[in-house]
Amino acid sequence: FLFVGRKRNLEGLEFGKSDFVLLDEVTMEQFMENLKLRFEKGRIYTFIGEVVVSVNPYREMDIYGKETIDAYRGRELYENPPHLYAVSDAAYKAMKRRAKDTCIVISGESGAGKTEASKYIMQYIAAITNPTQRAEVESVKNVLLKSNCVLEAFGNAKTNRNDNSSRFGKYMDINFNFNGDPTGGHINNYLLEKSRVVHQQDGERNFHSFYQLLRGGSNEMLESFHLQSDPAVYTYTREGATTNNDRTSHKAVMSALNVIGFSEEEINSIYQILATILLLGNMQFECDGESVQIVGLEAVNHISELTATDPESVSKSLLYRTVATGGGEVIEKGHSEQDACFGRDAFAKALYERLFGWIVSRINTVIEVKDYNPMLHGKNTVIGVLDIYGFEIFDNNSFEQFCINYCNEKLQQLFIELILRQEQGEYQREGITWQHIDYFNNQIIVDLVEQPHKGIISILDEACLTVGNVTDTVCLDSMDTKLAQHPHYTSRKQQTDRKYGGEGDVTFMEGFLDKNKDMLFQDFKRLMYNSANPVLKEMWPDGHLSITEVTKRPLTAATLFKNSIVALVDKLACKEPYYVRCIKPNEMKSPVLFDDARCQHQVAYLGLMENVMVRRAGFAYRQPYSRFLQRYKMTCEYTWPQHLMASDREAVETIVTQHGFQDDVAYGHTKLFVRTPRSLFTLEQERAALI
Ligand code: ADP
Ligand code: MG
Repeated sequence: FLFVGRKRNLEGLEFGKSDFVLLDEVTMEQFMENLKLRFEKGRIYTFIGEVVVSVNPYREMDIYGKETIDAYRGRELYENPPHLYAVSDAAYKAMKRRAKDTCIVISGESGAGKTEASKYIMQYIAAITNPTQRAEVESVKNVLLKSNCVLEAFGNAKTNRNDNSSRFGKYMDINFNFNGDPTGGHINNYLLEKSRVVHQQDGERNFHSFYQLLRGGSNEMLESFHLQSDPAVYTYTREGATTNNDRTSHKAVMSALNVIGFSEEEINSIYQILATILLLGNMQFECDGESVQIVGLEAVNHISELTATDPESVSKSLLYRTVATGGGEVIEKGHSEQDACFGRDAFAKALYERLFGWIVSRINTVIEVKDYNPMLHGKNTVIGVLDIYGFEIFDNNSFEQFCINYCNEKLQQLFIELILRQEQGEYQREGITWQHIDYFNNQIIVDLVEQPHKGIISILDEACLTVGNVTDTVCLDSMDTKLAQHPHYTSRKQQTDRKYGGEGDVTFMEGFLDKNKDMLFQDFKRLMYNSANPVLKEMWPDGHLSITEVTKRPLTAATLFKNSIVALVDKLACKEPYYVRCIKPNEMKSPVLFDDARCQHQVAYLGLMENVMVRRAGFAYRQPYSRFLQRYKMTCEYTWPQHLMASDREAVETIVTQHGFQDDVAYGHTKLFVRTPRSLFTLEQERAALI
């Protein structure tokens, strides 16, 4: 067993350096060279200390099997080559041995391999827990694993960058009992890209769930939903009518829903809502000069049937909105054709968003830890896994990219802060003096976005709350005035309005206010609340308010998102963090192409160079005395095969002194700290020569 571990460790330099900390010099050039070499040699993982850098291989790798799991189980980080399993095990060990809450933060851009990584991590945790196969624990594990399948069906879509792109952020807590076995969990979802329900870019698809229903649903089901099986028939799914493996996926999702514990009625309601959305998408309006009408009333009847509402209310909510006048009078105002289309699409998006939210909370009720008594069961510990959208910089960046990039600034800040804190903590524990490290603190960017009154979100919200016609341009002007002095704010007016730019990264302002307001007429909410289908009704609790009761403005999309991200950061900040930083090697989904420029860009914005520098600023490398000894005792006559000194520490001192790098190290209470990697290399080389 030990032999396996050591043999793996011997992997030579022809595969590059397994830890970026060991680079001769910390330059972008050397970093990239090492990353590329390792990718080309099929070594997709590399450490930066305890952080794992991963490059998407775009091919099946034979490195996730049982044998590999066994090699990593219970081992120390540096005993094996870099792997997701190494961090998973480190997070698990910290949780189990030291009763620490831990989290694994997976970041990287779309298609970099985050979601795949999160699945391997969960599979690893599932594989190493519950050795006695207790039925309750197995069932929890099963639901946790199956939840991925459901969430991917409803939250993922084919995009131009990734055939199975997650269009929402996910944070999952897994709870463990004192035995270290999973007892439950909780999923938080963030900012589902609901605009995809009604519109997709060329070459992209709507969420998988729609195609799965159409391609995989039984004839009987489709007939009862008044649907045809061809996605090309429906406006919302026309773009992506080509099939993936939608039919087989549909079966898998149905079975996963069953395993998780969704009832027949619930499953049926889920698909009824999807059908409703598809029918809504095909609904058209016409104006007969006087008023706006729905073209063809059949759809109205079908929708009313699917949503268990009455047909008059359905058409009314699509054609009119109830408004309260200044005098407290309630009147019905007919939509223009344009308003009707806007309302229909907003309704479709909201239906899907609430469905998704409801599915997540339904899964949560199943996996929620029940009857947990800390007195009886000991401390309940948690491992959190965060799989959230990375920085997105497109040619055309909008509100969604603004939110996503803000989220990444927050996470990046937390990353630097926690890495520094972790280092500092370790130095203190080991009794070694800590030196201050300078780094770019992006708090200033975070403040630019989120500060009360002065930040971008505040200015946006103010514009949204102002009565009257505040356009995107007016709002931008107001931002220009208020943020003129900010060193990181620039804006330009060209053909289109832009704002919030880093170096050459530009966000277009058009449509910001509408997306931030995220308006849905109260009439739709009330319609759904009045549904005779209890599952549907449950998704619309705010529909019980009549228009005169809706006094408070709902929070804007940006503010809701900000609040959820602040809560997320708080959650992460009190856990011991582990990081997986994912890199996408090329845009072609090719297993052999390493696009230098694209990769370097990612390394830069993921802050990986800073990470290496922080790690090396003090002591690049550290090992417990016993491990160090075990590895290098053969390089010194006083320690091979056994030393006769009073402690391992003394034996290590002997090795260090004999090789002449005593000035390059510090002796902690339990570990040796080495400042420059060069020293270790000398040892490694000698060691290699001896074997
Ligand atoms: P992200 O979640 O970062 O957007 P995904 O995890 O969905 O990216 O990965 C995109 C695609 O890349 C996957 O569908 C898969 O084809 C491939 N991929 C990612 N990670 C791996 C891996 N470890 N091994 C093999 N293929 C992978
Ligand atoms: Mg993903």
